Amino acid sequence: MPHDEFPAGSVWLVGAGPGDPDLLTRKALRLIAAADIVFYDALVGAEVLALISGDAERVSVGKRSGRHSKDQGTIDTLIVAAALAGRRVVRLKGGDPAIFARTAEEVAACAAAGVAVRICPGITAASAAVAAAGSSLTLRGVARRLTFVTAHAQAGAPLDLDWGTLATPDTTLAIYMGRAAAATVSQQLVAAGRHPDTPVLVVVNASLPTERVIRGRLSALAFLVDTISATDPAILIVGEAMAGAPPTIGSAVAARTDRAIAAAHRPLTD
Ligand code: SAH
Repeated sequence: MPHDEFPAGSVWLVGAGPGDPDLLTRKALRLIAAADIVFYDALVGAEVLALISGDAERVSVGKRSGRHSKDQGTIDTLIVAAALAGRRVVRLKGGDPAIFARTAEEVAACAAAGVAVRICPGITAASAAVAAAGSSLTLRGVARRLTFVTAHAQAGAPLDLDWGTLATPDTTLAIYMGRAAAATVSQQLVAAGRHPDTPVLVVVNASLPTERVIRGRLSALAFLVDTISATDPAILIVGEAMAGAPPTIGSAVAARTDRAIAAAHRPLTD
């Protein structure tokens, strides 16, 4: 480890990537192995947790849609307290810490307490999802824009997104936490002018052995997510760049099954 990369009493927010431990950065590996204590999310998989040193303490902070085991304020307090006690703290987050991961709150809490905090980026779910599908988030001349959006609304609140902007045809949408709102997303995008036949990709457990790639059309999005188990992470990708990518070798069987499911709802032309 480079000198002074991880002094006692400091915090690293570390991207754990989408699940496959081979998709961790080398830096994340070093930091995880060097930590005295690791606070981790529910989405961080067993194979990544296995890389934590046997001497280190592991604390599940279990944040997951619908069942937050610790609120954000408590997590901030725990991280800061561990650092102030002189420990090397890793806060391990699924994917990239910069995307829908409450990183700003944790950085602010550390700063307010005078605790040194740094961020190690990770591979985000959208990148792993299109890789699984043999596809690309951008496509020259077709998909010039990429929007990361969360479709997770506060309980009881309507999903308040700028549908007009999201419906722009040259935009790829990477929709995180979108399963519950899939029907609304599809209806609102079409109402705002996005073509109902816009290709969509739903990727479940991206990068894990249980990965599934489901293809379809925007108008059928709600049916496509109906086939997913409620506990598995899923990302929705909407846009013309999702058209016609070949199934990758590893997911060929899953893709065949998934295409059959999608075709049952709406015939595909590609
Ligand atoms: N910071 C994370 C996102 C956290 S929000 C990142 O950069 O990936 C949690 C959401 O991410 C899930 O609801 C799901 O939409 C998506 N997600 C995370 N891991 C995933 C995976 N392996 N496969 C599919 N979607 C995933």
